[in-house]
Amino acid sequence: MAATEALPATGAGALIVGASMAGLRSAESLRRHGFTGPIRVLGAEQHAPYNRPPLSKELLSTEGQGHADVAFPLRASLGEVEWMLGRHATALDPHARTVTDDTGAVHAFDGLVIATGLRPKPLPIDSHGLGGIHRLRTVDDAVGLRDALRPGANVVILGSGFIGCEIAATAAKRGCRVSIVSQSAIPLERAVGPLLGAEVLRRHQANGVTFFPRASLFSLVGDPDVERVVLDTGVMLECDVLVVAVGSDPNTEWLTGSGLDVADGVLVNGALQAITTEAAALPHVLAAGDVARYANPLFDEVPRRVEHWNLPTETGKRAGQVLAAQLAGDPAVAAEVATRPFAPLPSFWSDQYDMHLLAFGMTYLADRSELVAGALDDEGVVEYFRGDQLVGVCGLGMRSVVQSYRSRFAASAAPAGTAPAASAPSASPAASAPAP
Ligand SMILES: Cc1cc2nc3c(=O)[nH]c(=O)nc-3n(C[C@H](O)[C@H](O)[C@H](O)COP(=O)(O)OP(=O)(O)OC[C@H]3O[C@@H](n4cnc5c(N)ncnc54)[C@H](O)[C@@H]3O)c2cc1C
Repeated sequence: MAATEALPATGAGALIVGASMAGLRSAESLRRHGFTGPIRVLGAEQHAPYNRPPLSKELLSTEGQGHADVAFPLRASLGEVEWMLGRHATALDPHARTVTDDTGAVHAFDGLVIATGLRPKPLPIDSHGLGGIHRLRTVDDAVGLRDALRPGANVVILGSGFIGCEIAATAAKRGCRVSIVSQSAIPLERAVGPLLGAEVLRRHQANGVTFFPRASLFSLVGDPDVERVVLDTGVMLECDVLVVAVGSDPNTEWLTGSGLDVADGVLVNGALQAITTEAAALPHVLAAGDVARYANPLFDEVPRRVEHWNLPTETGKRAGQVLAAQLAGDPAVAAEVATRPFAPLPSFWSDQYDMHLLAFGMTYLADRSELVAGALDDEGVVEYFRGDQLVGVCGLGMRSVVQSYRSRFAASAAPAGTAPAASAPSASPAASAPAP
């Protein structure tokens, strides 16, 4: 893949679009790798960077919690950073090296990190302006949803991925009457497969949650708020709170017309440099976090977006390192840093009721899974294979056994001799989200 020529620095410094985890980690990494010039961060939310996993767990279940309880610490080593919050980037000109925001201001940069993440997919049918319909991505969404999850409320959750399942567990604990409506046969079907998915279903049902498989929304009834939902199976459900949790879309609309390949997130190479629709890498435009789509040589050469908490950190660290080398102005060093292998080991976790799931790898690439330790109605470990290749492991409990796969995984996940050593997740997700 051809790289366009690096442009000389103007002193404008680094611009990061997206004031969240990947943006913050990119800024920290720029400093760690010696960049002392200006760093500005443009963020659409009013809030400084914060941690999203508690939004469907602790913050959703704890009255009074808000941004201060989930905010990331801004370390002294970050030095001076200009935070421009509550402003949306609306356009990128990678050749002029400018980003325009929704106030019309034009921000020049020598190097850019795109860290604009995702937003929830919309309700798949017309809401007709009804109230009582929620989505969950931001701390403000979480506070609004928490206020609606009153004991006895009829809560219908559309979607049975991680966020849908975690909201269901939290709502059930708060005394709501919870239904999950899913196009899948079991919860978390794509993420953890049939063995664990069936156990997750059993535990939801044991906690009073009703699961409607292979169903979707047909229509809504109510005025001015939703009162009932009608499913395409003909079932009608009482509904005070409808939560739409049917996946996410990358925030890339503002990049339309920039020439970047944004077919599904921002396509980047192993240095996280953006690739244009003409297949050229831009050395001064990088992407990190959920919005980036890249190949991971631990698995194969297929570029993918991966939406796990450890990857904004891994990609942010990498983006900061590559950009700092680029901005230092020594082409030989920049080229050496950019060609270092990048193969982060994905990791995710989920807490629902007394159940703690912890996984490494890409479980969803598997064509078969196998219980290798324990028993799923208590604690157990499942391995995931694509053909003979181990592509993932997930434990229900048994965290130390699952953690032990980190090293084993790097050795066994890729064909011998082709993969660089995996970089272990920067911090154990479980360390910041202790199992209940
Ligand atoms: C409710 C919830 C629970 C989760 N729980 C878990 C979990 O238990 N385990 C796990 O592994 N992962 C979990 N995740 C996933 C994890 O939180 C994400 O992978 C991570 O937050 C992604 O970080 P990011 O910085 O890439 O993107 P984001 O966090 O999406 O941040 C992107 C930021 O960019 C801003 N932005 C967007 N467009 C623009 C624009 N045009 N101009 C300026 N700013 C813009 C957005 O407003 C946002 O602030 C959860 C996610 C959510 C939402």
